[in-house]
Amino acid sequence: MDKTDKQGITTTIVHRDRRVGVEFGALRSPVHMSAQYGFEKVEDLIGMFQGTKKGAFNYARQATPTSAMLEAKINELEEGVGTVCFATGMAAITAVFLTLLKAGDHIIASQHVFGNTNSLFGTLRQFGILVTMDDLTDAQRVADAITPATRMVFVETIANPGTQIVDLQGIGDICRDKGLVYVVDNTITSPALFKPKRVGATLVINSLTKTLSGHGAALGGAVTDTGLFDWASYPNIADAYRDVAPAQQGLQQIRKKGLRDMGGSLSSEHANQVSIGMETLTLRVRQSSQTAQALAEFLVSHPAVGRVSYPGLPDHPQHARAKELFRANAWLLSFELRDASQTVAFMNDLSIPIKATGLGDTRTLVIPVAATIFWEAGPEKRKEMDIPDGFIRVSVGLEEADDLLADFARCLDKVAGKA
Ligand SMILES: *Cc1c(COP(=O)(O)O)cnc(C)c1O
Repeated sequence: MDKTDKQGITTTIVHRDRRVGVEFGALRSPVHMSAQYGFEKVEDLIGMFQGTKKGAFNYARQATPTSAMLEAKINELEEGVGTVCFATGMAAITAVFLTLLKAGDHIIASQHVFGNTNSLFGTLRQFGILVTMDDLTDAQRVADAITPATRMVFVETIANPGTQIVDLQGIGDICRDKGLVYVVDNTITSPALFKPKRVGATLVINSLTKTLSGHGAALGGAVTDTGLFDWASYPNIADAYRDVAPAQQGLQQIRKKGLRDMGGSLSSEHANQVSIGMETLTLRVRQSSQTAQALAEFLVSHPAVGRVSYPGLPDHPQHARAKELFRANAWLLSFELRDASQTVAFMNDLSIPIKATGLGDTRTLVIPVAATIFWEAGPEKRKEMDIPDGFIRVSVGLEEADDLLADFARCLDKVAGKA
């Protein structure tokens, strides 16, 4: 376990509801489905709006007792000073950009980001926000791109699909020196493998749809404030949100503008699903990471396979960085066949992996990324993002490794003309 943990992640999560107290001795908090919350006294209703009545609920677009419980759990895992949940990971990311940036501000982002985040940067440009995307495996690129208008740096931990790992620590140091908001999307690693607070992240994003819930049964997203940033010095906080402690001002604005005004709210039902899934987070991530390592090593050894991208392989360009920062190398890998013309037939032949777009499921999922997720980006952008046409992304699930490897072996042998 991480030495900074008070208790392990699983101990913390599985006992969390009980420790705060649930009626009848229930071990799980109930799922509160109400959209409205009423008060006996009008003074309390007024206090709710004026921020003097704490710990109460008002309207489910802003929070429910069930989403608040999930926020508290994620906050403990990321060691934050507060967490806000959203309906999806993209809603969380969108809320961060739209509530903390304004026209004329500049953001520096890794060029290796989730496809929809990449597309969202295009939308931000339409609103007059300047976006620089670069290869941030080298932190110097961040230093070189900073202008007086720069407010924020956005990166992911392990990039999808190419598994590049930006210089998380180096960028964190630059952001601290320059007073920039450092946003780290921790979706692929999750707090089970990495806590971005360690490298100085200001805000941590988690898509709850992926490995945090883990079963492909719910959508959700979260933003956690690590407490490391001094929001008192950040220019874009509205006066109305300056009335809380400086450490809380950023998240207060994200909650008010991002949830209350923009409305990408997480339902209680999905919050409950994510809470249940999170109980097995560390077990699932440990297992699927182990299987991914075995699969990556097998793929490298097979004559039909060309390039394999997985941080657990010694020839991965950031292998040493992964070893230093992450507890394991996660469950995401990509590879290409030597003969790219066989990609579709090969994938159709696989019997266990599901042809699907998602990530972080109990089931292994495969997708040819250039022809799908990155199709809209076009060939030039794909080249820039280092996504070859035959790249197959694998999100490794919980199937027994032997079963999975046997299935890949059978289909690869066919490609190699051995079967
Ligand atoms: C899936 C994903 C998202 C978006 O999450 P959704 O819950 O699908 O909206 C953001 N970042 C990364 C790295 C992802 O993999």
